[in-house]
Amino acid sequence: MTSSRPFNFSAGPATLPEPVLRQVAAEMLDWHGSGMSVMEMSHRGKEFGAILETALADLRELLAVPSNFRVLFMQGGGLGENAVVPLNLSRGGKVDVVVTGSWSRKSAAEARRYADMQIAAEGDGRSIPRDWRLRDDAAYVHVCSNETIDGVEFHDLPHLANGVPLVIDCSSHMLSRPIDWGRVGLAFGGAQKNIGPAGLTLVFVRDDLLGHAMDICPTAFNYETVAANNSMYNTPPTFGIYVAGLVFQWVKQLEYAGRRGLAAIEQRNIDKAALLYAALDGSGFYENRVDAGCRSRMNIPFFLKDESLNERFLTEAKAAGLLQLKGHKSVGGMRASLYNAMPLEGAQALVSFLKDFEARHG
Ligand SMILES: *Cc1c(COP(=O)(O)O)cnc(C)c1O
Repeated sequence: MTSSRPFNFSAGPATLPEPVLRQVAAEMLDWHGSGMSVMEMSHRGKEFGAILETALADLRELLAVPSNFRVLFMQGGGLGENAVVPLNLSRGGKVDVVVTGSWSRKSAAEARRYADMQIAAEGDGRSIPRDWRLRDDAAYVHVCSNETIDGVEFHDLPHLANGVPLVIDCSSHMLSRPIDWGRVGLAFGGAQKNIGPAGLTLVFVRDDLLGHAMDICPTAFNYETVAANNSMYNTPPTFGIYVAGLVFQWVKQLEYAGRRGLAAIEQRNIDKAALLYAALDGSGFYENRVDAGCRSRMNIPFFLKDESLNERFLTEAKAAGLLQLKGHKSVGGMRASLYNAMPLEGAQALVSFLKDFEARHG
């Protein structure tokens, strides 16, 4: 199927696979002969029960989630988890945060409200800092495994030799690559970058981290309660779970470069990012400032050396069918997000536009 839709480089909420959007549209008024939209169904009925179970099973399969992890479908977003994680894991004790950019900085500020938070290391927004001052008696260590705004990604998760659980905010690269579960105690992320509509928040938590919530933790955000009720302690974001489930099926059947499923998505992400970085690095007109070893495959901030051309760049990009390339206001410049649903052709179209724009204005 060829599409006439423009390519959407938004950092989030972000582009979704077109076949998924088409299926959602086709099933909007009557899901599988039920006579109801998914939005209108009881979350406790058998129809939605099947949607939830299938989505959970597909997600576990795609990410090879070990059996000692619980997968929770929650609400509150990544920023909500910045409070929910310390409320559940910190016991009011020590929390070490490694700051690599804007999102981990926010996590640090929020954890401080509930725990003895220490910034264990602080990067410059272009690199992952080296020396971490970790405390052996910390309840957990927090990192943001992909900094959406700065474009800094951990390509290997840290191995914490002291056995302290690692918490990762993987909002903006979840399902773009495998997760090394042996190094992780808890992973969380909002759905709106790579998985589905805003409103759904995913949490993967190791069994031994359940059951330690602080008294002040809201019951609906107590991981043990949510897990015991199979993500149905309160009404879960049903429509978001349904769309996410279709995205999981789309990833499972995706084929690319002789691979299938997550391996195909990962290779396609590697190739898209490589195309764009090569174009930026090969030009004297644009630049990306992130260290080569931690450049994000998902979010690629870049600058025009002549910033007076920024507005023109965005206007011409839009006219060429390339949407939402404006950089985050805290960084400026441009940012291209190349999430799972961005086809290779989207990255190619952006690279051609970059060259064309440089030829006309360079
Ligand atoms: C988008 C994002 C968030 C914020 O998510 P909300 O759903 O707006 O709360 C947190 N962390 C990272 C890494 C993100 O990319």
